Amino acid sequence: EFHLGPIRAEDGRESESVAPLFDEIIAHRLGLIPLPTDAKLFVPRATCPACGGEGCPNCTVIYSLNKRGPAMVYSSDLEPIGDAKFKPVDANIPIVKLGEGQALLIYATAQLGFGREHAKWQVAHAIGYKYKPTVKVDNKKMDPDKFPVDVCPVNILHHKDGKVTVEPEEKCTLCMACVETAKEMNTEGAFEVRGDPTRILFHFETDGSMSAKDALLEALANLETKFSTLADQASALE
Ligand code: SF4
Ligand SMILES: [Zn+2]
Repeated sequence: EFHLGPIRAEDGRESESVAPLFDEIIAHRLGLIPLPTDAKLFVPRATCPACGGEGCPNCTVIYSLNKRGPAMVYSSDLEPIGDAKFKPVDANIPIVKLGEGQALLIYATAQLGFGREHAKWQVAHAIGYKYKPTVKVDNKKMDPDKFPVDVCPVNILHHKDGKVTVEPEEKCTLCMACVETAKEMNTEGAFEVRGDPTRILFHFETDGSMSAKDALLEALANLETKFSTLADQASALE
C-alpha cells in the first residue's frame, strides 16, 4: 500500500510521494526481497484457520518503508512492524533512487506462498544434478610426470609423489578430456571416467529465506504428504 500525497517529516519538511519508478515496479522489487521464512511458524493466508484469509499474525507479517530523498532505498529500509527477526536477509539490495523532495511511505504484507504461483516465492535456485563421477587413474599405464594435468577444466588432477591424483573427485564434469589426452599420448586406459547412474549428486542453493537443509526437509515433507494422499486414493479404488 503506497501512501499518496505529501509526506511530512518530523522536522516539518514536506516531500512529495513520488519516485522515479512506477509504484508497480517498486512493489514488484519489494516483493522479490527474500524474507526469513519459518514454515512451522506460519500458515498460508488463504487457508488460515485463525482469520479465514483476512490476515493475522499467524499468516501475515506487516512491513513499513519510510524513506525521504535524496537517498537510495535498500532492502534494509523494509522494516518489519513487530519482531525484528523478520527483517530482510540481505540488507543491501538496491530498490530505487529517490531525488530531492521525493519520498516513499509504504506498508507491505508478506505471506507464505509457493514458487509455482509466483517466482517471488521460489526458495531454491541454481539447481543441478549429475551422476556421481568416479575417476580411476592407472599410473602404471603412463608416465605420470609427463601427463599435462591442466587439461582438466575443473583442476582436480594433480601431480603428487610421482603420480597423477584426483581430488576432489566429485567435481569431475565427465568431460573426458583426460581420457582423450591419454589416448592422444598413446597411453590409452590410463584414465577411466564413469558416471554412476545409481547415485545422483544434487546441488542447489536458496535465496536466503530458508537454509538449504530446511528447504530440502520442507520439500520432502510435502512429497510425503502428496504420496500418502495418492496411496490413500489408490487403496480406495475397487
Ligand atoms: S573427465 Fe574431465 S573433469 Fe573429469 S577428471 Fe577428466 S578432465 Fe577432469
Ligand atoms: Zn491468518
